[in-house]
Amino acid sequence: MRVIYIAGYGRSGSTLLDIALGNAGGVAGLGELTALSRHVWPRDEYCACGERVRACTFWSRVVERWEAGAAPVGRAGQLGQMGQKNEEARAGGIERRLAHLARAQRHLEALPGIARLPHPARALHRRETHALFAAISREAAGDPVAPPPFLVDSSKLPGRGFALAATPGIDLHVIHLVRDPRAVVWSMSKSIARELERGVQKEIRPRASAYVAMRWALVNRAAERLCRKVGAQRSARVRYEDLVADPAGTIATVLHPWRDREMPLAGTHGGGEGVLYPAHQVAGSRHRMKDSLVIRADEAWRNEMPAARQRLVGVLTGAMAHRYGYRTETIRPSSASLAAGV
Ligand SMILES: [Zn+2]
Repeated sequence: MRVIYIAGYGRSGSTLLDIALGNAGGVAGLGELTALSRHVWPRDEYCACGERVRACTFWSRVVERWEAGAAPVGRAGQLGQMGQKNEEARAGGIERRLAHLARAQRHLEALPGIARLPHPARALHRRETHALFAAISREAAGDPVAPPPFLVDSSKLPGRGFALAATPGIDLHVIHLVRDPRAVVWSMSKSIARELERGVQKEIRPRASAYVAMRWALVNRAAERLCRKVGAQRSARVRYEDLVADPAGTIATVLHPWRDREMPLAGTHGGGEGVLYPAHQVAGSRHRMKDSLVIRADEAWRNEMPAARQRLVGVLTGAMAHRYGYRTETIRPSSASLAAGV
């Protein structure tokens, strides 16, 4: 199963990239798949198709297939030493299996969690994740003789990427998505009100600039390590700024070395120039809840972000930001926002 994992920090356009990839032929965008077992299915949250996930034809069939295909994966010696908890998880209903998987995910997918993994959680995570991707792959292919599509998981967490890289049966490709840290810090300094139907499951509170800047560096460094793990042939770095300037060109460049010759680049979704259609992205930003969208750059920080805040972010992220091609000289915000003291 060929999986494209989008790794990186928040507010970097991962949902837009997921949707854009999903509009290319032979690629299925799934959203932040880590959320399916953690809260989307248990709380019956909204799918990008507009239905609640349990009423969505795609995900309800996936979960049905997952439940039916509970056979363990891999060679007996590899995954056979499962603890009692694993046996319990396999025997239980889908709700229990999801709860067990969610618990394993919390151990495994957090940034520093890799090293302190207990073995039973690792085995359970591999087995259930493989079973889930197998179910998705069969459902997304539609026609049983059609080649299985690339499956896009935009969960972002580097730790999950490492876990997927270690899952037998998954051929992992990684896109490391980066965005100018000043734009990320500015975006995260705003709050977003809870709006279930528009894909915001809980109120998003503003975050302190220094915390976001340091976290940006930490997560992106981990994403770089993930790229090194899968190798240059299976990894690519995409900058948000390049994606929004030329979505089709960026997607074509990324997919070109990975796709089979017979796979069409053009998507099957009709529409005008640059119009994209979300599919069944299971979690992610509000963009996924639109019927259709055209990707546009959000560069509000250039007009609004105070110079002192920009300098702080520059000090905390400078060397890495430069490496990604971001010049961190201060951009003078408009006098109106300075007067407002934002
Ligand atoms: Zn759906």
